[in-house]
Amino acid sequence: KMLIRRDLELRKANDELKTLDEQKSKFVSVAAHQLRTPLSASKWALKMVLDGDMGPLTIDQKTVLMKGYESNERMIALVNNLLDVDRIGSGRYQYVYESMSIVDQIDSVLADMAPTIKKKNMKVVFNKGKDEIRNVFADSKKMRNVVQNLIDNAIKYTHPGGFVTITLALEGNNMLAVSVKDTGIGIPEDQQNQIFQKFFRGDNARKLETEGSGLGMYIAKEIVEMHKGRLRFESRENKGSTFTFTLPMIKDENE
Ligand code: ADP
Repeated sequence: KMLIRRDLELRKANDELKTLDEQKSKFVSVAAHQLRTPLSASKWALKMVLDGDMGPLTIDQKTVLMKGYESNERMIALVNNLLDVDRIGSGRYQYVYESMSIVDQIDSVLADMAPTIKKKNMKVVFNKGKDEIRNVFADSKKMRNVVQNLIDNAIKYTHPGGFVTITLALEGNNMLAVSVKDTGIGIPEDQQNQIFQKFFRGDNARKLETEGSGLGMYIAKEIVEMHKGRLRFESRENKGSTFTFTLPMIKDENE
């Protein structure tokens, strides 16, 4: 009898926790959706003024407005991450697959990041590997998110003047491996098992860079795994980290 009662109590507690968890997810989802409209309204208002549509601006005015615009962009990115997490949790994260070149995508991400790379005086090398590296069948928007996140973190968590090396290689007989290596702050050993958890941020990362949601790696892992690949890393504190993801390559018709 005691056991039956205990079992019932546990079940009830479990149901309550589930309801709380659902309410929490719902709250995040509603808040994120509601934030989207005013954020995009501010974006376009700031952009119009910045583009000179309301008359010419002085350099000082432009600098101040640009800061506002960039903060707004960061907020939009955060809200988009929250929405992605919500979609992943509820199985509504839709993928659109097409044949795409990872080489071209990395080149394009690096071109976008050139100002940040220059500002931080980082040395970034991209080893494109051999000709056997073929296209992958992927959701290019989501893949861009993964590539961008890994390179962004490598730059963010490395002191100015450091090195980032991106390498493409073959793994096994049909996998493409993309690795992003940095000479940065690394991940403390006792925190390495938490890196892919939602909202987790390492102590040293938090100290160096106050801004960050801890959602990037959680989303990246989900995206890579949906493409039948794996995301892994090796890291030593104060020495650096290497994040690697694999993807199946499109088979050559002539083989
Ligand atoms: P965020 O960068 O917003 O904190 P992420 O989900 O992208 O969130 O990363 C989670 C955590 O993983 C980071 O807070 C940091 O502790 C660690 N991390 C990820 N990439 C690196 C890296 N290249 N070097 C050191 N730590 C990293």
